[in-house]
Amino acid sequence: MKTLAYAAKSATTPLAPFNFQRRDVGNHDVQIEILYCGVCHSDLHTVRGEWGGTTYPCVPGHEIVGRVLKVGPHVTKFKAGDTAGVGCMVDSCRTCANCEEDLEQFCPDTTFTYNSADKHLGGVTFGGYSQSIVADEAFVLHIPDNLDLAATAPLLCAGITTYSPLHYHNVSAGQKVGIVGLGGLGHMGVKLAKAMGAHVVVFTTSANKVDDALRLGADEVVNSKNADEMQKHLNSFNFILDTVSAQHDINAYFLLLKRDGNLTQVGVPPEPLSVNVGSLVFGRRSFSGSLIGGIKETQEMLDFCGKHNITSDIELIPIDNINEAYDRLVKSDVKYRFVIDMATLK
Ligand code: NAP
Ligand code: ZN
Ligand code: ZN
Repeated sequence: MKTLAYAAKSATTPLAPFNFQRRDVGNHDVQIEILYCGVCHSDLHTVRGEWGGTTYPCVPGHEIVGRVLKVGPHVTKFKAGDTAGVGCMVDSCRTCANCEEDLEQFCPDTTFTYNSADKHLGGVTFGGYSQSIVADEAFVLHIPDNLDLAATAPLLCAGITTYSPLHYHNVSAGQKVGIVGLGGLGHMGVKLAKAMGAHVVVFTTSANKVDDALRLGADEVVNSKNADEMQKHLNSFNFILDTVSAQHDINAYFLLLKRDGNLTQVGVPPEPLSVNVGSLVFGRRSFSGSLIGGIKETQEMLDFCGKHNITSDIELIPIDNINEAYDRLVKSDVKYRFVIDMATLK
């Protein structure tokens, strides 16, 4: 099926219109007309080759929501006309220990939604900055029908990437939780941690985001460039989630953790971060990472958001503004997720 999209032809060329073929709908496949696609900073890191390993042309986009156009004969979970979502993965091996534990994101053979080997057509997978997508129903999500569809798209990556570590680290009422960076992931982290009952503190470098942080549900906001403000929170956090996309000092945050506290890094800056081991050993603090979440947990997160009426705060953009949106992401000028209105792709 001929499909119109936006692609980058190299690390230094802007995204521009591009045509490619999607596979025909197989027995277990769902074909989705993409209505909205969120813009994740991972799209930008990949398109600009910041992590290495990008195959061009690259069609990014893994926060996909839309309407089911067609289903294969063995599909049981979806029918034409349903709203549906696709996140960061479209397949995995289904048999390894990770897949058996519903942790497909750690499967050695995961097929990511873009820039991953395409088992069906060869080459690499193409993502959601496109008219439609075909995926196995096992990797397609149900969207709660009480949520605004455009504002739900970012849940498919920013939502699950923050929900999963908050959940894994048992964030709950009575805990003090920090969210570092108020961008796409960070603002979802605030909403989700708050809904889980935590006392939430936002760390931002952007003075113009303070009022929004409080409106989004934060109990306190810290200007992370101000050492005095940081000092006030020494040894006080159960858990800190770091969503920052660029080089920054993580050691300052280790010192804010209580004994046995954990800082989980979900932001993936292209350059290594330096770790002051002393800040970890005193206090038995730990530093870990987390990658999106499995499909079962993604559905759980969507249902949790449906129940708590949680969506993303978005700026809806036409697709020809995508390059400008990327430039604004680099400047932290995002409130709080760009979402592409795919009706503008013609
Ligand atoms: P984003 O919307 O651009 O937000 C990143 C935020 O980090 C910015 O808004 C800014 O917040 C802060 N920031 C940026 N540069 C900074 C700097 N030099 N020093 C301190 N703070 C800075 O990005 P996103 O889409 O949320 O993604 C964030 C990161 O997570 C990216 O690296 C992305 O690739 C990664 N990611 C990881 C996973 C995973 O599974 N682990 C999934 C999705 C994305 P303030 O203005 O508040 O300071
Ligand atoms: Zn993402
Ligand atoms: Zn597997």
